Amino acid sequence: MKHILIVEDEPSIVENIRYALETEGFSTSWHSQGKKALERLEQGGVDLVVLDIGLPDVNGMELCKQIRSGSLVPVIFLTARSDEIERVVGLEIGADDYMVKPFSPRELSARVKAVLRRYDGASGSRTAQSPGPGFELDQARCRISFNGKVLDLPRYEFKILSLFIRHPGRVYSREMLMDLVWDDPEMSTDRAVDAHIKNLRAKLRRVAPHKDHIKTHRGMGYSLKEAP
Ligand code: CA
Repeated sequence: MKHILIVEDEPSIVENIRYALETEGFSTSWHSQGKKALERLEQGGVDLVVLDIGLPDVNGMELCKQIRSGSLVPVIFLTARSDEIERVVGLEIGADDYMVKPFSPRELSARVKAVLRRYDGASGSRTAQSPGPGFELDQARCRISFNGKVLDLPRYEFKILSLFIRHPGRVYSREMLMDLVWDDPEMSTDRAVDAHIKNLRAKLRRVAPHKDHIKTHRGMGYSLKEAP
């Protein structure tokens, strides 16, 4: 049975979501505060997080970044504000999907199922079979294999590549990468990002010499090439 963690502070919404998800055979747990939700995640066994952006103790987008720093568990955002959608949809934050309030709990259940199918049953604590071509992501060991070979990746390269693998084809600007990957984005530079991308390219080429797997989008950023 898949477990869905709901992080939301409006009890009536929680009740509707829980009912819809449990009807579909999911088990659920619920927290109204980000801090508690993180503690619950650390206990493991969570397959997906439904995360409200407007929480009493922390902004849901900030919380998502904290979740992302230690886990690949899929996240679906709930938002009441249309001006937040752009950031969420741009996946600057690393969400897998979102719903704008008011929404139908059944629609949410359908999205939950779709996202879980995409993840092929992987949870943040287990080995994730990634959608990126030829890549395999082992979050627990902080290890990425490419065409069956384990890549030797320092921390930032690992974090950049796991982001790319999770969202093949999506373009990440240098600012986004700094924001999502670096511990202290203020201390980093565009050139640091470029240097890590260069290293990653070289390491991927060593495994598959005749291809460039990371695409440069002039003036925009980088993406992982999608499977043809
Ligand atoms: Ca709220």
